[in-house]
Amino acid sequence: MKSLFKNILIAFIIFLVIASIFSLTQEIPNNKAEKISFSQLAEQINDGRVKRVLIKGNKLNIELKNGRKEVAYKEVESSFTQSLKNYGISPEKIKEIEIDIKEESNLNFWLGVVIPFLLPTIIILIFFWMMLKGARHGQTQVFSFGKTRARLFTPETQKEKVTFDDVANLKEAKEELQEIVEFLKDPKKFIKLGAKIPKGVLLIGAPGTGKTLLARAVANEASVPFFAVSGSEFIELFVGVGSSRIRDLFRTAKKHTPCLVFIDEIESIGRQRGHGIGGGYEEREQTLNQLLSEMDGFEPNNGIIVLAATNQPSVLDPALLRPGRFDRRIILDEPDIKAREEILKIHTRNKKLAKNVNLKEIAERTPGFTGADLANLTNEAALLAAKRNKKQITQDELRECIEKILLGPERKSHILSKKEKEIAAYHEAGHALVNASLSHTDPVHKVSIISRGKAAGYTLKLPEEDKHLRTKSEFIDELAVLLGGYVAEELVFNELTTGASSDLEIASNLARKLVTQYGMSKLGPITYGRFYHSQFLDQEYAIEKNYSEKVATQIDEEVKKLIDSAYNTAKKILTRRRRTLNKLAKILIEKETIERKEFMKIVGRRKIKI
Ligand code: ADP
Ligand code: MG
Ligand code: ZN
Repeated sequence: MKSLFKNILIAFIIFLVIASIFSLTQEIPNNKAEKISFSQLAEQINDGRVKRVLIKGNKLNIELKNGRKEVAYKEVESSFTQSLKNYGISPEKIKEIEIDIKEESNLNFWLGVVIPFLLPTIIILIFFWMMLKGARHGQTQVFSFGKTRARLFTPETQKEKVTFDDVANLKEAKEELQEIVEFLKDPKKFIKLGAKIPKGVLLIGAPGTGKTLLARAVANEASVPFFAVSGSEFIELFVGVGSSRIRDLFRTAKKHTPCLVFIDEIESIGRQRGHGIGGGYEEREQTLNQLLSEMDGFEPNNGIIVLAATNQPSVLDPALLRPGRFDRRIILDEPDIKAREEILKIHTRNKKLAKNVNLKEIAERTPGFTGADLANLTNEAALLAAKRNKKQITQDELRECIEKILLGPERKSHILSKKEKEIAAYHEAGHALVNASLSHTDPVHKVSIISRGKAAGYTLKLPEEDKHLRTKSEFIDELAVLLGGYVAEELVFNELTTGASSDLEIASNLARKLVTQYGMSKLGPITYGRFYHSQFLDQEYAIEKNYSEKVATQIDEEVKKLIDSAYNTAKKILTRRRRTLNKLAKILIEKETIERKEFMKIVGRRKIKI
């Protein structure tokens, strides 16, 4: 289509060029000729001065006997001789001159008549054609709007073949999914036995625990086509688009059976209906209904298995979890220490590791890291080793990257003035010392006044083992540790800075949670207030204040009590161990960081009873 347009354009330009050259050569001789009026010509003929007249249409090229050339025009309607007669020229005089009649040039005629008409027509046509093209383009877009955005991976097109061996740990999950793999490989075997294979399997796990990875592994193990789509891709501004995309997804999938349909982040369409928070609610409901009816629509054993992943199962609509839909649920836990080591092993398989690398130690130091964090860690370490021109990744790089991931990159360029450095040193020493003096805290791994991310300094504490539950004593101690920086500043400088503000915010929020959500105060085992967790902003909003003003006052009082007591604890510790505090601060000012061993040597194992 485009080439046709080009050809037409080129032909048109060539045509114009030829025409203009032609008309130029035609006009040149005439330019020399003087233009006269018809009556002047008649006079000249009467005087017998004209030798020859060449008639070309209504144009008269005149040649005088003295060789001069002239041009004149006659009326179009009447002939030349008739016109002369009208001017009273006798027929004899006319006979004296040679009269030549030349047919008018075709080209000139065309140029004169057709171009003024043709040119705008062509321009209009081109204009229309372009508009039409645009419209057609838009139309196809409109048509494909309701099409699924699912990406199809067939066994042949998968570049990186992920297998179950690439997924560390998650033993139960793999066993469950193995069954699905068997079915997809040979559906008949199951159908013959009358076994019912689930239509939908829901993978539940925190972000980065390997849901997507596992789904890809299933498709690969079964070597069947794999449609991957994210729940959010169904949501558009227009109502009805999402449901039409769902319809299209299943229509396409039915052509490829047996196959696996993977809907990642299903909570973005599968939210409980009737929750009017946030826009696009109507659309979401329609999309979810369509998904439900599609899942009801096909027979259990026709070879489509829908795998979905979510990190917020609690927000899912109960209808999704009913039999015949996602009735099989697989929970992916966050990796424990052993699993972390395995994951690290998998992700360092293709990396050059120094002999001193001890992945077990790294696993110990990374409680709370997900699979994705660990994969990121090994990659960062490799990058760091390359930056240092090392041939292998050593333990140092791995250790440093843990901190980088936990706290953000170091900002060595962030230079503190002498006074600021002193304040920062006492502040961090305060946190660290309070932490070390209480019994329900995690050991300090590192204290530093090198700013990282937003923090001016940091005290890195890591639990000795993985924790799933936390106790009230731990929270109470944590509050005191949080206030340690503030108290140290106050004690030493008798002055407060803005450096403690984020500590205070964290402490206040924590104290409020203890009272209103964990039932850890005098107000007893009641939760106060309802919260809406915005997935979009990853923030909690109070949506309901389901308590009286009187209770509100009590909550405030309890929060204040908790903070006051934490303040007193910190103050007691730092006053009693002032010399240790000074010592820590001095070393920090000098060296900027203290590692665990040195720290333990200075503070000892002494715990303070409050
Ligand atoms: P999710 O979908 O649960 O948010 P992903 O499956 O996308 O998480 O995981 C992100 C990355 O983390 C994976 O590509 C993989 O490199 C790594 N990962 C997560 N869990 C594991 C695991 N169990 N074994 C190996 N690698 C893992
Ligand atoms: Mg994912
Ligand atoms: Zn602080």
